[in-house]
Amino acid sequence: MTEKHVRHWIGGKPHEGPAGRQGDIYDPATGRLTGKVDFASATEVDAAVAAAKAAFPAWRDASLAKRTAVLFRFRELLAARRRELAELISSEHGKVISDAAGEVTRGLEVVEFACGIPHLLKGGYSENVSTKVDAYSILQPLGVVAGITPFNFPAMVPMWMFPVAIACGNTFVLKPSEKDPSASVWLAELWAEAGLPDGVFNVVHGDKTAVDALLEHSDVKAVSFVGSTPIARYVYERAARTGKRVQALGGAKNHMVVLPDADLDLAADAAVSAGFGSAGERCMAISVVVAVDPVGDELVARIAERAARLTVGPGHDPAAEMGPLITREHRDKVASYVESALAQGAAVVVDGRGVETAEEYSGGFWLGPTVLDHVTPDMDAYTDEIFGPVLSVVRVGSYDEAMELIAANPYGNGTAIFTNDGGAARRFQNEVEVGMVGINVPIPVPMAYYSFGGWKDSLFGDSHAHGMEGVHFYTRTKAVTARWLDPSHGGVNLGFPTNG
Ligand code: NAD
Repeated sequence: MTEKHVRHWIGGKPHEGPAGRQGDIYDPATGRLTGKVDFASATEVDAAVAAAKAAFPAWRDASLAKRTAVLFRFRELLAARRRELAELISSEHGKVISDAAGEVTRGLEVVEFACGIPHLLKGGYSENVSTKVDAYSILQPLGVVAGITPFNFPAMVPMWMFPVAIACGNTFVLKPSEKDPSASVWLAELWAEAGLPDGVFNVVHGDKTAVDALLEHSDVKAVSFVGSTPIARYVYERAARTGKRVQALGGAKNHMVVLPDADLDLAADAAVSAGFGSAGERCMAISVVVAVDPVGDELVARIAERAARLTVGPGHDPAAEMGPLITREHRDKVASYVESALAQGAAVVVDGRGVETAEEYSGGFWLGPTVLDHVTPDMDAYTDEIFGPVLSVVRVGSYDEAMELIAANPYGNGTAIFTNDGGAARRFQNEVEVGMVGINVPIPVPMAYYSFGGWKDSLFGDSHAHGMEGVHFYTRTKAVTARWLDPSHGGVNLGFPTNG
């Protein structure tokens, strides 16, 4: 099979220039190398930003009707071809195709939200703030904005950003994950088919070199980042130092609290779905189940029974519920937490290290569902974001102890509570220091018209992604005070303007 070659997308077409460096693309199910991706140096980043800068004035001035017409066409094309994109994602990421289709749908919802941009960009108007003086506010785009995205949602996370940014009148440079870069180029081609003018959406591939070039570029006005916490912090600090607007979403350790009155079958189904969907490589995955006494034994038994029954296999196999991990290194790192947890005193209730696959997949990056019980907050399996199919159970004596555990954790992305007590759920929603909360819902990813984002070390910056916070992030407000003179104007007045 010939290897694919993934290129940058600059100014409405693939970038043909030679690449100084390239990265490898794998099929995680077989472990085989399937292609190469060009890595950008500052030169290609400059070219992409220049294309976006050149496209900005005309796109900013394109009527709202014209912009929304392109967005609606993009929406139609994406809806019609979502299966194709899901297969492409699965081939590089490894997730099962139904899960990849789910990610495309959630991205599509942001496109649909952005189709309503004429309504969202309405400013305010006040007549007669002073005698014959009117005041109003208008929302204007920033210019060239950049998105830097992680491997785990190669279509959805970029779509948290660019539909809103472009709808607001900005032009966009995307630096997707180098591990599964094809989805971004597929989306760029779709934009072109939808009639987006050349240069409004660009893609540069690569690693730290490309990211740093974007962070330092004086023509990049804002940076949206999603990835791990150390890099999110780095991007936030460096972009802020160069005066850019920045939102940097980081890692997670999501706790699911199960109170004694919960429906334990519902809770076990939820924990297994949210812990092992996409092999745990979701920023909203449940990685810690907090079992409040006395539910521990019964809950762990129900979770273990379900986890052990999951079908692990390649993403294109309709029978598979969970695919492989993204790289061999990541697979080995995730497996190392099972070893450290054992050494530190946890019990391995379900062990995915010996998972079996068909012969042709023996080189893949496999780790089966793993359940760790009696995990304590000092263990590596608890303190670190594992980002794999390893579900830890921490047992606590009370609701208050569960709350203390979550409060002490540096992350604050998502959390959930399972209970039949409305008062307890309401108290949890009110008290918990986490950005996204589920009540009997394990993965509370907000709809496109709300905003996505965590608290504490899960987000650096002020704005969450998409929804109205996205619109605010990608626009600047201008306040105008206007007087159209009539013959009764009051003449010179050196006093500070006040109402009159
Ligand atoms: P990552 O931080 O390794 O990479 C994210 C992006 O940063 C990629 O584009 C990568 O090329 C770039 N990058 C990597 N190292 C860099 C460096 N040293 N300097 C500059 N740029 C660098 O993350 P990942 O492994 O691709 O994705 C998994 C992580 O993303 C997990 O921590 C997960 O929780 C997080 N995530 C968070 C959210 C959220 O909404 N909070 C959503 C999805 C994923």
